[in-house]
Amino acid sequence: MTEESNNPYDICTWRPASECEGCSIAGQLKCRFNWGDLLHFMAMFFAFAIPAVIGVIRGGYGWYLLGWAAFLMIFFQLWEIRILCSHCPYYAEKGRTLHCIANYGSFKAWKYHPEPISKAETIQLIIGFIILGGYPFPFLLLGGQFAWALVAAWGLFLFFWTLRKYTCSQCVNFSCFLNAVPQQVVDEYLARNPVMREAWEASGWQAGGER
Ligand code: SF4
Ligand code: SF4
Repeated sequence: MTEESNNPYDICTWRPASECEGCSIAGQLKCRFNWGDLLHFMAMFFAFAIPAVIGVIRGGYGWYLLGWAAFLMIFFQLWEIRILCSHCPYYAEKGRTLHCIANYGSFKAWKYHPEPISKAETIQLIIGFIILGGYPFPFLLLGGQFAWALVAAWGLFLFFWTLRKYTCSQCVNFSCFLNAVPQQVVDEYLARNPVMREAWEASGWQAGGER
């Protein structure tokens, strides 16, 4: 399969890398898949999840981790992938599997949505993140695992802090509420991606506006 046939929405992230030569925003975005970015994301998530799992098991509530695992499956495979990822340029690649720097390997049950994330989706996303990050803590506290709760809380803080500083500041899913890419870079990316730009304009976006 050629790279072109793999890119039905003509998103520059999925064009041949040779077309990035001369791009004025090259290096300012995580706009091409990179294993280092994916591994960094996973390492930061596990720095929170591993102490949380250890603490919950030590506290005698290990079986309740099945509920967390089920939520993670539903959230990343069905819910979050619709309200967040389906709007992302990485999602626009042809095929049923997501190849991106965070949710790599997830099944793409939904179609690509080039328009920005809506307010209702943002609210759902915040609720989902609260459940995702908060789930282990009641069990850590009920089990008396205060030290592990502190380590997990620190891991969760570091996860979001590094995510916001090093990923959200360069992430191509610009309409996410955590996204911190400068407006001028967003404008330039959209100028290179007509399908996205048209969908954004139809939603009221204007180049040169405020973020
Ligand atoms: S914005 Fe598009 S064209 Fe520019 S470097 Fe990134 S993927 Fe390449
Ligand atoms: S929003 Fe993040 S996790 Fe979702 S497809 Fe884009 S890069 Fe991947």
